Amino acid sequence: MSARILDGARIAADIRAEVTAEVRAMSAAGVRPGLAVVLVGHNPASEAYVRGKVKACEEVRIFSEQHAPPDSVTTDELLTLVDGLNRRDSIDGILVQLPLPPQVDAKKVLLAVDPAKDVDGFHPMNVGFLSTQRPGMIPCTPAGVMEILQRSNIAVAGQEAVVVGRSDIVGKPLAMLLTNANATVTIGHSKTRDLAGVCRRADILVAAIGRAGLITRDFVKPGATVIDVGMNQVTDPKEFARLFAGNARREETFRARGSTLVGDVHPHVAEVAGAITPVPGGVGPLTIAMLMVNTVKAARMRRGQRVPELERA
Ligand code: NAP
Repeated sequence: MSARILDGARIAADIRAEVTAEVRAMSAAGVRPGLAVVLVGHNPASEAYVRGKVKACEEVRIFSEQHAPPDSVTTDELLTLVDGLNRRDSIDGILVQLPLPPQVDAKKVLLAVDPAKDVDGFHPMNVGFLSTQRPGMIPCTPAGVMEILQRSNIAVAGQEAVVVGRSDIVGKPLAMLLTNANATVTIGHSKTRDLAGVCRRADILVAAIGRAGLITRDFVKPGATVIDVGMNQVTDPKEFARLFAGNARREETFRARGSTLVGDVHPHVAEVAGAITPVPGGVGPLTIAMLMVNTVKAARMRRGQRVPELERA
């Protein structure tokens, strides 16, 4: 049996089309949602992420602007920048791209972002709103995972869900969202005893670990839904062979580029799972799509307008 592939790229495109229609209607009524991105210094990975976010804004017609302080920026300078963005009515979302340089107190900067404009959903107030099921900003990657499940008609209520990974940006908020959606949730991490056995209980297994192909087929109950959040660059030929030996297409790209992107789930899991997200093209595209959703949601909530998606929850 081969798993149903949950096509994140298609789901993200559907969401972007919905956001585009919403932004058009809001702009016609005089409110164009706006996102400010703060990108400190020249970290190539961060620059690539920010390019993707700005491009997505252009596509859905959200106003966006970039602020690019130098690597030498101080905490106080960033606090002044954030304070200015908090005060501007045309800015609905503020995104401070992480990581920040070591001399900056990143927690202090994130805490300074107005929770109503915190489109990353990292502010402790939004974390509290999520855990107490009040309207707020939900972190983009976990929100994207929930969209994949809902839009693929995968039942969540009453199901056993296991989330491997307990980071503040993925694992914990996702466990909370699944709990709020009435799943029975277990969180696994590096200290979990018999992780494979715990994972085998899952009807829905989420891997948010950052270890290439750690989840092998013996972690997976036959027929389970497997969501792979991991994004890992593999460059070691031995590691590549462990994951993709016999996969002619991957072998060709690996030879050409010297690296390949792989999730936390071993490709062989597709032979036992009932449904699975691919890497690339699974959770990744949803993260940016949900940033667009959050910016529109912030623009509506700040003005006391209806947020259809909150009524659905
Ligand atoms: P993180 O902050 O490093 O957290 C990793 C978690 O995995 C930790 O809770 C850690 O446990 C756990 N872990 C590490 N090794 C383990 C092992 N051998 N067995 C069991 N658990 C283990 O990572 P993150 O930011 O959540 O990201 C996780 C992955 O998702 C990364 O590959 C990242 O690139 C990817 N990601 C993708 C997107 C996307 O848009 N698709 C967005 C964000 C992140 P401890 O807590 O015990 O240390």
